[in-house]
Amino acid sequence: MRVLRTLVEARAWRRAAGATVGFVPTMGYLHEGHLELVRRARAENDAVIVSIFVNPTQFGPKDDFSRYPRDEARDLALLEVEGVAAVFMPTVEEMYPEGFATAVDVSGGLTSVLEGAARPGHFRGMATVVAKLLSIAGAERAYFGRKDAQQLAVVRRMASDLNLAVEIVPCDTVREPDGLAMSSRNTYLTSEERRAAPALYAGLRQALALFEGGERDPAVLREAVRARVVVEPAFALEYVSVADPETLAELDWVKGAALVSVAARLGRTRLIDNVTLGERG
Ligand code: AMP
Repeated sequence: MRVLRTLVEARAWRRAAGATVGFVPTMGYLHEGHLELVRRARAENDAVIVSIFVNPTQFGPKDDFSRYPRDEARDLALLEVEGVAAVFMPTVEEMYPEGFATAVDVSGGLTSVLEGAARPGHFRGMATVVAKLLSIAGAERAYFGRKDAQQLAVVRRMASDLNLAVEIVPCDTVREPDGLAMSSRNTYLTSEERRAAPALYAGLRQALALFEGGERDPAVLREAVRARVVVEPAFALEYVSVADPETLAELDWVKGAALVSVAARLGRTRLIDNVTLGERG
């Protein structure tokens, strides 16, 4: 497994790699969720490249950039076991050299709501770094988790709008046995918070059960999520949304598919999760 630290090394690796390359962008501190993306990429491509880069421009001033967990040695050992061909681990200076002045701004409703409203500038930073990484990796396919459903929607829009020659492949959310969506940020949780954390997914499952029983009123679905989450008083709910999975516009009635997403604070940790009702795109 090659560890690539510079753009020059990464481009040279791509030129020498097999016919098809699968790319998995991450911020490191890897867990089974990331590794499932890697396994899917391996199954569908000749070679896999993973990036590990904690991108400062997608964190706001009050976000957790400086305390975001990092463990380079452990991450590399996990990726080696998975048969990854190359890991791209650039420095911040390599990605944003002096004079860097370009941003990718996916405008409109896709980025102004939900995570975009809670974290101003987040999607601009994310879309810019993903565009850069896709350009550097030169992959045929790039793998993204449904755990970050809005990120996936923004990346799909950007790849389509910029005619990027890469297929964006969505991958299912990997969960702990008690339902909590795996996340590098789960490491922030105290043991008491960790015990309460599965209420988020339990709330989403309530909405799913109601939908399967025929309920189509977003207000009822939202209330079911809220009621289950607040059973755990440690949770401070930020939003519950029932939206169109592609445009993220809030629905006044569920006719086709709907994305139910939720964000909540548990102590100092902000958790997000989602489920799709109906057919997924
Ligand atoms: P991150 O390192 O958190 O930026 O995530 C890197 C990629 O892994 C993103 O495409 C995430 O959506 C995906 N991912 C993170 N957690 C999970 C999970 N529990 N299941 C599936 N994919 C995930």
